[in-house]
Amino acid sequence: MCEICGRSVGHSYRCPNYTPPKASYYCSACGDGIYDGEEYIENLDGEYRHYECFYGMRDLLEWLGYKIKTMQNTT
Ligand SMILES: [Zn+2]
Ligand SMILES: [Zn+2]
Repeated sequence: MCEICGRSVGHSYRCPNYTPPKASYYCSACGDGIYDGEEYIENLDGEYRHYECFYGMRDLLEWLGYKIKTMQNTT
């Protein structure tokens, strides 16, 4: 039995011996794991990011590899 949280199987969330479930993928923005039920996006470089971890449309598009250009050839 754990001396701190008193559980015989596993640990309570507050126990310092508790380890969060291992995630298969980690968010490249916040560094947290991406767990079941969370929304995420994968880019062409194989990076993962939580949907909530984008600051806006520009951030999202640039991360996906799109270039945001300014048209300069108009007459
Ligand atoms: Zn414990
Ligand atoms: Zn994140």
